[in-house]
Amino acid sequence: MKASTKRSAPAHAVKPMKTRRFHSSATSPGIAIGRAHRLHNRGAPFARVWIRDAEVAEETARFKAAIAKSRDQLSHIQAKMCRYQGHDQIKIIESHRMFLQDDMLVATTIKNIEQYRINAEWALDKTLAQLRLSFLNVNEDYFRERRQDIDYVGRRVMDNLTGSSEAPLAELPSGELVIVSHDLSPAEVASLPKDRVMGFVMEIGGETSHSAIISRALEIPAIFGVKDVFDAVEDGETLIVDGIKGLLIASPLSRELEQYRSTQRKYAALEEILMQDIHLPAETKDGCRIKIEANMELVEEIPTLLQHGAEGIGLYRTEYLFLNRLDEPSEEEQFANYVSVLEKLSPKPVTIRTIDLGGDKLSLSQTYDSQANPALGLRAIRLCLRELPLFKTQLRALYRASVHGNLKILIPMISSFEEIVRVKKIIKEVKRELSSKGVKYKDKVPLGIMIEVPSAVLMANEFAREVDFFSIGTNDLIQYGLAIDRGNEHVSYLYNPFHPAILRLIESTAAAAKRAGIEVGLCGEMAGDPLAITLMIGMELDVLSMNSISIPRVKKILRSVTKGQSSRILKEALSLDTAEEVEKLLKTKTSHLLPGDVKKLRIIEGQQTTPQQQGRHSKSSETSTT
Ligand code: PEP
Ligand code: MG
Repeated sequence: MKASTKRSAPAHAVKPMKTRRFHSSATSPGIAIGRAHRLHNRGAPFARVWIRDAEVAEETARFKAAIAKSRDQLSHIQAKMCRYQGHDQIKIIESHRMFLQDDMLVATTIKNIEQYRINAEWALDKTLAQLRLSFLNVNEDYFRERRQDIDYVGRRVMDNLTGSSEAPLAELPSGELVIVSHDLSPAEVASLPKDRVMGFVMEIGGETSHSAIISRALEIPAIFGVKDVFDAVEDGETLIVDGIKGLLIASPLSRELEQYRSTQRKYAALEEILMQDIHLPAETKDGCRIKIEANMELVEEIPTLLQHGAEGIGLYRTEYLFLNRLDEPSEEEQFANYVSVLEKLSPKPVTIRTIDLGGDKLSLSQTYDSQANPALGLRAIRLCLRELPLFKTQLRALYRASVHGNLKILIPMISSFEEIVRVKKIIKEVKRELSSKGVKYKDKVPLGIMIEVPSAVLMANEFAREVDFFSIGTNDLIQYGLAIDRGNEHVSYLYNPFHPAILRLIESTAAAAKRAGIEVGLCGEMAGDPLAITLMIGMELDVLSMNSISIPRVKKILRSVTKGQSSRILKEALSLDTAEEVEKLLKTKTSHLLPGDVKKLRIIEGQQTTPQQQGRHSKSSETSTT
């Protein structure tokens, strides 16, 4: 029984075996079938044990030790936050530390051990349940905040009791599972065993939240933003995750299960057809070449991305080295990691992006709610320029690794000219230090910047003079350009790469790069969207970097069109007023260009790639019973 991973089931919980459907956005394509396994967050299972009188003191001591360890961990986090975060965030951690001394938590748990003669885990679980209940009558916002604190602190103490505080989420039952959770962090998603996890269902998050990106990178079908699903499914219940339509079916009818098994087979067959052509050049019918590269978060993805025909790594998100741990990876650890990636890919290019922590990617040394507007806060290059030792350590590791392959360095979230100047100055210092110690490095490692905030687009002419390449990050460019939190399911219906403003932002960046004669690529999720390809050919982008799962279909479409057709489609798209019109145009113009196989794929994937009609507008999480 995984009590630490469960919420108490409400009295009105849906009866287990009835078929129920939940609609939301298609987050990671494919069909998954498996048994539901609900995870609130990290945590190992614990036994519920009746104890003897003589064991009371021992259990109490274990509980007190777990409290002390939790306090030490929070102090450590707090000390680190003094470097990264503001006063308000430190106060939050302080309040968590205070909660660890609160009689509501400590005395009540000890009383539970003594009174009921139960083990510390069970006693703590009982206390946490009582505390949550006691906040039910308090006004809503206050209740929500306090309950979050209880969950957060309670989980930490429980993890320390069960000895699972540093453990990855590997303690799962055997068999094929669909993980249902309120919200798992990107690092947690990444740490789940891929052989057992068939699909993900999350209550919050949208298509471009980082956890969603990781599920696509792992090729695990997922749907996010399914409100209240955690309490509405039972552990062990059969679930179908339709990551194409954005549909979850709990306890499906047997004929439905059969249909889905057949769709699953068709989908796999189609993938196989697409895979046959992956080693053909990525060029249009009239010979226009575009480099197709892969986005990567974990070294384990390298074999897959190479199998899918990636011509290089267009984006290595190195912040994943920093997640799910309390300490920072040392220069040596980073160096070894970068060398291994460069060597495995050599002579293909590897674009390593410097740390993009912050936003929805928080290391364990940062709190969940550490900044009121994390996406607008101390994130990416802003954090690096504040934390110079952190940044310089990474740069040293990168330059040392540069002699082992074809390295390009990419800086995220640049929003001003001064930032580029500072980065270049710091790089010079790092090189000087390496030279003075006689360490070998490549002098001319191409330096690029991500274009993901509107100010960078507006300054693209000036920025282009300073760097060797641009990589357009549409995930954030859409977020910052349209003022839509990319992880917020309430506004994700507005999140649309085909918004005319977004097309203009991309086009204007590409034009600035062309004028300056530097390379320009796109590495947001849009790069892998079949509908967007003609637009990107028309804009003359040099590189498209995407989840490796998307490479075969993008290549197939690229090879079916001409540059001339694409330019005409782009011109027309840029003259339209709404995203809906752009999508309609793309569907009309593109579908007849596609070969038979891809047409079939588009039918199967229709709902995923026509979000205006399907995912985005019909997004709801209500359940219907058949
Ligand atoms: C982007 O913003 O498009 C991007 C590729 O960066 P990330 O998704 O890691 O923020
Ligand atoms: Mg980004």
